[in-house]
Amino acid sequence: MSLVVQKYGGSSVASLDHLRRVAQHVATTARNGDKVLVTISAMGEQTDDLLNMALALSPKPPRRELDMLLTAGERISAALLAIALDDLAVPSLSLTGSQCGILTDETHGNARITQILGGRIRDNLAANRVVIVAGFQGVSTQTKEITTLGRGGSDLSAIALAAALEADACQLYKDVAGVYTCDPRSVADARLLPRLSWTAMTAIAWGGASVLHPRGAHLAAKFNLPFEIRSSLDLTRPGTRIHGSAALERPQTIALAHKRGMTLTTYRLTAADASSSLAQVLSWLWQRGEAPQVNQQVLQQDGSIDLTLVISSSLVSDLEMILDDITAPKPGHWQRLNERQGLATIAVVGQGYKQSPETAMTISQGLYGTLQFIDVSDQQILLGLSDEHLDHALKVLHRQLIEQMPAIN
Ligand code: ADP
Ligand code: ASP
Ligand code: MG
Repeated sequence: MSLVVQKYGGSSVASLDHLRRVAQHVATTARNGDKVLVTISAMGEQTDDLLNMALALSPKPPRRELDMLLTAGERISAALLAIALDDLAVPSLSLTGSQCGILTDETHGNARITQILGGRIRDNLAANRVVIVAGFQGVSTQTKEITTLGRGGSDLSAIALAAALEADACQLYKDVAGVYTCDPRSVADARLLPRLSWTAMTAIAWGGASVLHPRGAHLAAKFNLPFEIRSSLDLTRPGTRIHGSAALERPQTIALAHKRGMTLTTYRLTAADASSSLAQVLSWLWQRGEAPQVNQQVLQQDGSIDLTLVISSSLVSDLEMILDDITAPKPGHWQRLNERQGLATIAVVGQGYKQSPETAMTISQGLYGTLQFIDVSDQQILLGLSDEHLDHALKVLHRQLIEQMPAIN
């Protein structure tokens, strides 16, 4: 008997009809003889709705209370799915992250999973119940408080649970058929990728493709856990399988991922303890769930540090307030040297870019006049350009680097 982990994202459970369809699929899997562990997201846009309610009451809601509020969304959909399964005569039980022992650190809003106990999950699976775990949440062992894993964190819950319970299959159901060569909402000719390596999936996710939480991709790679991204609209369609196969690892572009609404900013940190200010800045960004697309630190001869970041524009003013706080005992110990707002980034994900500089040259020529920066590493070329050029650039790059190349299989 196999253990199957299935994750249903917000768009897959957007309405009661969606939930009924999901319940049918879970019931079919359970009746086929598999043990089923479901991780579920809040219905549709409910997390955003809850967040907006909090922001209407206070511009800076306490982070502990935000976690109490936002985790309610997943708890509602988990209980509703259990009710729908009951109606189909399938025994099941819904659990919060805390009830099933998903232990985390104490970082509200972007907690890291430290351990999964999973005793109640194992017991209930052994008793032939479908177990439904509210996604995106855990509990801090230190503070005993409820925590969330960061926006989109149900992917992470599913992958962590599949790794901890040594599941035989891990399937993430989305409103797309799998992972495409580019966001199909941006490039209509994007192709479905039947297979991807963990490395490529991780780069695509960090590059901004919301189809998977980047920390989920990392975790799967760390535990050598194969998993699938599949369509919640056509539940039997195979989708994309992500595993360690090197089949795609030839010098070729696999996919494009992008982020809008970014700012490039350079700060000079001048205090004698500039490195401590730097650590505090990076830790603040992490707590907000922000992994800068560019994070370059150049030590100056006088000991100051020039820090260049490309981060979400929405964070810049709060970050500068934090810099004021950090350097408060020594006012003036940070300066903004440069700022460019309204940027977008594109991560061109593939392999072999160091040994084949043609790709970077093709990009520079194709986007001449629009590129603001380009950074080449072996498995990724990161591009910065103004937001208004993004859609055109994605189409040009997709045509040049993917459509005009042989299909990837
Ligand atoms: P979930 O409901 O599980 O949270 P998401 O909405 O986060 O799922 O992810 C699915 C969305 O990811 C799609 O609607 C699609 O627009 C977007 N997306 C971005 N890049 C890609 C890509 N390369 N392949 C597939 N989908 C992508
Ligand atoms: N509901 C949460 C969010 O919208 C978590 C998730 O969907 O994965 O971010
Ligand atoms: Mg998501």
